[in-house]
Amino acid sequence: TISVDQLSGWLTRFNDLVTEQVSYLTELDSAIGDADHGSNMTRGMSAVVEKIQASPAGTVDELFTGAGMTLVTSVGGASGPLYGTFFLRIGATAGPVGTLDAPGLASALRAGLGGVVARGKAEVGDKTMFDVLAPALDAFDAALAGSSDIPSAARAAYSAAQTGRDATQALLARKGRASYLGERSIGHIDPGAASTSLLFQALAETLG
Ligand code: ADP
Ligand code: MG
Ligand code: MG
Repeated sequence: TISVDQLSGWLTRFNDLVTEQVSYLTELDSAIGDADHGSNMTRGMSAVVEKIQASPAGTVDELFTGAGMTLVTSVGGASGPLYGTFFLRIGATAGPVGTLDAPGLASALRAGLGGVVARGKAEVGDKTMFDVLAPALDAFDAALAGSSDIPSAARAAYSAAQTGRDATQALLARKGRASYLGERSIGHIDPGAASTSLLFQALAETLG
């Protein structure tokens, strides 16, 4: 099982990674967007971590509902409501529990993906964060079907996330700002796909 403290550690590590990679995320978004994905993610995640440090969550619901609300309210760009809804759905699905077992974590993450789709209507190959989130969760579930070892499933998810991120380079954007560029969006990694890969890097490093 995985505790609220470990899940708080996941979000804290994600904040560290987006902070370390802020220029890279900015660079990706300056090629096919408006150059704010780095600042959006660092503003949102640093607010999430401040909240965790000020009042540590007692339950999984409290942790992720707090994180989701913070992102929705502190990030102006598309990524705020998208990541925000991801975390809100995780919290609502997990409920007021202190730990999650492997199937509980998998279904909470799956519900989070459902929230992203409900919000953004992204489909496979639209060149968005969905193209990392969906294969990463598929890999997570597939690994858990073989053994209920959460750390190795998290590593499998991160590996699939990196592949998904890199595959967005060849895609034509069909959602979000990058879609305004049409053919000119081809040849660049999607910024949200890159930050979502960091989300799974953080999970693998925290649990793995
Ligand atoms: P904005 O585009 O408003 O400036 P960000 O730059 O922070 O917001 O985030 C852009 C990222 O959001 C994109 O790279 C993409 O991954 C993701 N995104 C945008 N629209 C959608 C959508 N409809 N569904 C899923 N993800 C999306
Ligand atoms: Mg942007
Ligand atoms: Mg913007």
